[in-house]
Formats: sequence, structure tokens, C-alpha cells
Amino acid sequence: MTDCLFCKIAAGDIPSNKVYEDENFFAFHDIHPKSPIHVLVIPKLHLQSLADATEQDTALLGLMMDRVRHIADAELKLGVGYRVVINVREGGGQEVDHIHVHILGGKKLPF
Ligand code: IMP
Repeated sequence: MTDCLFCKIAAGDIPSNKVYEDENFFAFHDIHPKSPIHVLVIPKLHLQSLADATEQDTALLGLMMDRVRHIADAELKLGVGYRVVINVREGGGQEVDHIHVHILGGKKLPF
């Protein structure tokens, strides 16, 4: 999608602090971290939100969670544990309309 911030970040058109990239996914540090480690994982394919996913996106969503696990473990060394958050649409606090998974860690997180 041409006017999407995260599409532009994944394409390298807007700079980011990259953590991981492969053919289908891109991960980068959140610009306003809410914990010592705060990374966003996005698919390169534009999908607005979890609520907009269909059955056709099942494989992509499964792969995305596998990449989240890999990034948290191998790239961020969060073996002690971490939190995964997906905000969905305005009511769920989603500000960027390109599905993304927050990985939060680096301290003991309160509920
Ligand atoms: P949301 O509220 O779940 O949509 O999360 C969007 C996240 O994107 C927020 O935590 C923002 O701090 C983060 N964010 C917004 N713009 C940028 C950017 O240009 N680079 C990195 N993170 C960003």
C-alpha cells in the first residue's frame, strides 16, 4: 500500500532500527518504547489489522507468530520471557493500520 507508514519502513523508504528481515517479515525497534525492549514485527504484505484477516491469511499469521518466537529468542535473547501484543482497530488502541505484533521485554512486566 503506497500511503502506509509500515509498508514504507519495510521497503526501506523510511529509516528504522531494524532487528530482523526475511522474504515475508520485517522487525524493528519501536520509536516510543514502552519497555526496555520494544520491537514491532510486521508482514511485508499489507494487511490492515487482525480483524481484517481472512482464512486466506491463516498461513501468514501462523508464520508471523513463528517469526515472533524466533526474533524474541534468537535476536533479542528474551529467553527469560516477554509479552506479545496485537492492538486491533481504534478501540483496541491500534494507531498504525498495518498489522503488527509488539514484542515487549527486558524487565519484569506487570499485568
Ligand atoms: P499501535 O498502537 O499498536 O498501532 O502501535 C503502533 C506503534 O508504532 C506505536 O508503539 C508507535 O510508537 C510505533 N511507531 C509509530 N511510528 C513509528 C516509526 O516511524 N518507527 C517505529 N515505530 C513507530
